[in-house]
Amino acid sequence: MSVRDDHRTDATSENEPLGFTNDYDDFAAPWFTLPEGSMPPDMAYQIVHDEAMLDGNARLNLATFVGTWMDEQANRLYAETFDKNMIDKDEYPKTAEIETRCWRILADLWNAPDPAATIGTSTVGSSEAAMLAGLALMRRWRLRRRAAGQPTDRPNLVMSAAVQVCWEKFCNYWDIETRLVPVSEEHPAFDGDDLESYVDENTIGVVAIMGVTYTGVYEPVQRISDALDRIQEATGLDIPIHVDGASGAMVAPFVQPEIVWDFRLDRVVSINTSGHKYGLVYPGLGWVVWRTEEHLPEDMIFRVNYLGGDMPTLALNFSRPGAQVLLQYYLFLRLGRAGYAEVHGHTREVALYASSEIASMGPFELVADGSDIPVIAWRLKEDPDRNWNLYHLSDRLRGRGWQVPAYPLPEGLEHITVQRIVLRRGRRALARDFLEDFRQCVAYLEGLDGPIPVEREGSAFHH
Ligand SMILES: *Cc1c(COP(=O)(O)O)cnc(C)c1O
Repeated sequence: MSVRDDHRTDATSENEPLGFTNDYDDFAAPWFTLPEGSMPPDMAYQIVHDEAMLDGNARLNLATFVGTWMDEQANRLYAETFDKNMIDKDEYPKTAEIETRCWRILADLWNAPDPAATIGTSTVGSSEAAMLAGLALMRRWRLRRRAAGQPTDRPNLVMSAAVQVCWEKFCNYWDIETRLVPVSEEHPAFDGDDLESYVDENTIGVVAIMGVTYTGVYEPVQRISDALDRIQEATGLDIPIHVDGASGAMVAPFVQPEIVWDFRLDRVVSINTSGHKYGLVYPGLGWVVWRTEEHLPEDMIFRVNYLGGDMPTLALNFSRPGAQVLLQYYLFLRLGRAGYAEVHGHTREVALYASSEIASMGPFELVADGSDIPVIAWRLKEDPDRNWNLYHLSDRLRGRGWQVPAYPLPEGLEHITVQRIVLRRGRRALARDFLEDFRQCVAYLEGLDGPIPVEREGSAFHH
């Protein structure tokens, strides 16, 4: 038995370790092997707590879209329900029913012509939702092609080069050709221009993004839909749209209700969102809703026996936490339409304020001002005398606790580097504090002469 194991044996007897002493350090857990012995819970807690302390502060993480704050009541509810498994519909029939209420509420919010005819589910996030929605598109395309006696071996999916990585994953995992429409100076967002060169009889669908991850701007779903109408008139191809509303599908209905992007467009057959983004829930929760049951091929649904009834389930995973679904319902009740409009309206105001401040500082040019989803992005104006870049600024800000990623734009505009912040529910004062630190970091960089060593070429980019 090693010395360490000796100590472990001691520690589990009455000889409680003193805490931060040499003794304590002897218990340091090995990194890559399971410790042989056990240790007191306080000690294990302290070790994990201390390790987690070295992570960034979640609320200063301006890179993430994901919920980092909920109120006391939500936190209490979370603690009361973290043991619920979403798949146990028999054991937790109420949670199952609340899940259904939630996606029905979303179907209504997204203007489904007949919310009672829709079908949907919760997921762990938009990525799982995208896998399910993409599969439904593929299966429906395949059924149509088979019925017509046509080959089904070369499906493709058309979308902007600015898609979130989950769509490239979807195509990769299910052997579907990815057709990316590049972005450009004239078409900084995918807008249906030249779409006829990308779609054909093997196109299972077109993905439109409400809230492009890189910049936060909305793709004009209506224009994309109009372009597909023209293509149908010319060629007979009837190509459906899936809207990836990971962020924007929980913003637009409240803040920009006049934008027509949802089930009001006949071509939109399914929509996903992340409950854990502007749905305001902690990670991980996503939603996907289909216009009607017909848009979800029956063979993707597994029937489980549910209290003598028939419970359809649709998911990639089996077990997953149910608490987030309850938290979403809590927020639907707590905020209602008016509350979501107020919360997101406030966040948007703060975003517009922050972007105008950044624009007025001199070196920056806005790429997105926060008027779509409250995400702002900027680039550096050309200046041959400047000896710093946005990666240096990210590093400086990180030194003050703020996490602000810098990264190149996608294919077509990859020569442009931007920096982005995602504004979330919080106090305006925090934005002021951020801007003050931001100004000081810029002033520091502007005041240096001579080259600044680049410590890292990239920085964390949270899609
Ligand atoms: C965040 C995001 C995703 C992925 O969502 P997760 O909930 O993190 O899985 C997909 N698409 C877009 C546009 C996103 O912003």
